[in-house]
Amino acid sequence: MNVLVINAGSSSLKYQLFQMQDESVLAKGRVERIGMETAIITHEPTGKPDVHEVSEILEHTTAIRRVIEMLVHPVHGVLTSTAQIDAVGHRVVHGGESFKQSVIVDEAVKKEIKRLFDLAPLHNPAHMLGISAVEINMPGVPQVVVFDTAFHQSMPATAYLYPVPMALYRKHKVRRYGFHGTSHKYVSERAADFLGRPLEHLKLVTCHIGNGASCAAILGGLSVDTSMGMTPLEGLMMGTRSGDLDPAIVPYAMGKEDLTLSEVSSMLNKHSGLQAISGISSDMREIVEALEAGDKNATLAFDMYEYRLRKYIGAYAAAMNGIDAIVFTAGVGENSELLRKTVCQQLSFLGVEFDEEANQKGRGLERRISKAGSKVEVLVIPTNEELVIARDTYELVQEKVD
Ligand code: AMP
Repeated sequence: MNVLVINAGSSSLKYQLFQMQDESVLAKGRVERIGMETAIITHEPTGKPDVHEVSEILEHTTAIRRVIEMLVHPVHGVLTSTAQIDAVGHRVVHGGESFKQSVIVDEAVKKEIKRLFDLAPLHNPAHMLGISAVEINMPGVPQVVVFDTAFHQSMPATAYLYPVPMALYRKHKVRRYGFHGTSHKYVSERAADFLGRPLEHLKLVTCHIGNGASCAAILGGLSVDTSMGMTPLEGLMMGTRSGDLDPAIVPYAMGKEDLTLSEVSSMLNKHSGLQAISGISSDMREIVEALEAGDKNATLAFDMYEYRLRKYIGAYAAAMNGIDAIVFTAGVGENSELLRKTVCQQLSFLGVEFDEEANQKGRGLERRISKAGSKVEVLVIPTNEELVIARDTYELVQEKVD
């Protein structure tokens, strides 16, 4: 069975085609600048040269049509016909309280995703465009939706409620949902495998540190707390997002700087974090380069980023009454030796014995970066959200056929 995984954004769309028998990737790619006359499609078929094309792609239906044309192209393609795409899996950011796991798309599911537009106005509408575009281009092909929030639905009320009037929760579902769930679930399962210990017996802190960043406390395989909240703005300091701050800053800054709600929201989501403090970049590579060159603002930005992450790890150790392993994943977590080192060297009180040499080796591989015998193990596990989406899609579609 071949499964096409789609991550549709408002002006871009990423795809990966999996052959599920051996979980190999047949092709992957992305369409950027959807809505423009100069949209770019980048197609990477396995074992063949990459293709870059610029053409007019004004909406998602055309974007999906172009992706299918690439996949079945006589030269760049990897399939002989569209009929070889057996199912499509979509990443959907917000599943609210309605979706605790992945589901096959039907009318009721689409209605519910639309009802959740309010909670993820930038993401869910774009995902719906992706789902409709597949319906139009591949009528009858089963589609599955995999939610970023689903894995965190196991959190207890103690962790997911905010201490504000309950009417906000009852009437408007104001609560912590958490995000990056697909990644936290994947790396926690891989960590248990790597350690050769049953997931049910482990206390893990998983740190998904990319452009967006979140930590999760995973007890016995279930998420019991996570740093992102009702939206992906809460928690850790990120590339351009502030993470945690005193909510009173919002009305105060609005008054002092004469900002509208949308301006203050844009400030906290797009103009804060590493970018704001360093004044250089939201990209950790550039921050590290600048701090190595002695830039004070880059050093401060890095120190704040690291400090806030370390505090969350400490908090989750308290939440679970201990930790067996800390897992680093995503762009920064997998690649920044300096961040892992700075965080872990100051977690010796928890029983972390950090292995500096191991930290510098094996980029791209699952590995242990704590010393043998360390009370708390530290692992680097490359995440693979697309594979989880493909697996869930495959399983649900197989179940339906059986
Ligand atoms: P992601 O959102 O998981 O794709 O992560 C993207 C981020 O990973 C980029 O914005 C970079 O800040 C970070 N990143 C990628 N490579 C490195 C590296 N070698 N060192 C530090 N950060 C990196």
